Amino acid sequence: MFVGAQVHRVIFEATVGPGILLYTGRRSNSNHPFTVVSFWLMVSHLHPDDVRAFYGSFAAPITDLDCGQKCSPYNQRGVPFCCDTRHAVPTAYQAEWHHLRTNTDLWHPWEAQDLGETAKLREAAPDGMVLIECLGHHHCQRAYRSITCRAFPFFPYINSLGEFSGLAYYWEYEDRCWVINNLAVVTTDYRQQFVEMYDALFDREPDEWQNFGHQSRLMRQVFAERKRTLPLLHRDGGIYQIMPNDERLQPISPGDLPKFGPYEIADRMPFPDER
Ligand code: SF4
Ligand code: SF4
Repeated sequence: MFVGAQVHRVIFEATVGPGILLYTGRRSNSNHPFTVVSFWLMVSHLHPDDVRAFYGSFAAPITDLDCGQKCSPYNQRGVPFCCDTRHAVPTAYQAEWHHLRTNTDLWHPWEAQDLGETAKLREAAPDGMVLIECLGHHHCQRAYRSITCRAFPFFPYINSLGEFSGLAYYWEYEDRCWVINNLAVVTTDYRQQFVEMYDALFDREPDEWQNFGHQSRLMRQVFAERKRTLPLLHRDGGIYQIMPNDERLQPISPGDLPKFGPYEIADRMPFPDER
């Protein structure tokens, strides 16, 4: 996880929410927390064949350009944030892990350099969930990216009526992920495939519906406390902001969406190439 990095001290905060495991550590030598983002199932009914089908149907690029080239300059290691286990440790469903380890050598079980750190993350992970790490972004195999790789930075947003209304993002990455700061660049194909894949996943695994419902409630609470609206890539193709208290939807122009961290600074630059 921290290959090549000096870890002086790690402070862990674990938040296990249904559907998502967010496990955040902050190193004393870094300004950025890292977070385990995972999708998990209490009792999984998934089969490797389901995973194969999901991989086949959810393969469209998230944008028309390589967004890793946009965010990696802001990462100390020059690596896309979502491919850097100092920032995000992927996990796989058990069936997904079976599919991956029998078809590719891209992945191995994730382990921190610090044994205690590894033990803490494993303890925090629900039974059957596998923390994984790939060989690095120079060795990526698109066909064998995990579901977490493909979905990042989004999760399926479930409103309080229980409707899967679109794509919301993991707000912890607002200051790192270029896509979050440029939601209009997400391709139509990607959005459609994301929705279709999760519709199929929810049919196969209804518990996940509850799990992402919990994550969506959590996002409403957090954004209500911050007095912010939630950006949503709606399944109808539009971009909306959701009022966190009553869940009213308002269309929003992409240009009116806020930017964060270095992207907010770059947005003020006079030359578009610097954004
Ligand atoms: S999804 Fe976000 S964090 Fe991942 S490579 Fe693209 S811009 Fe970077
Ligand atoms: S498999 Fe590819 S997309 Fe996923 S973490 Fe590794 S390099 Fe990034």
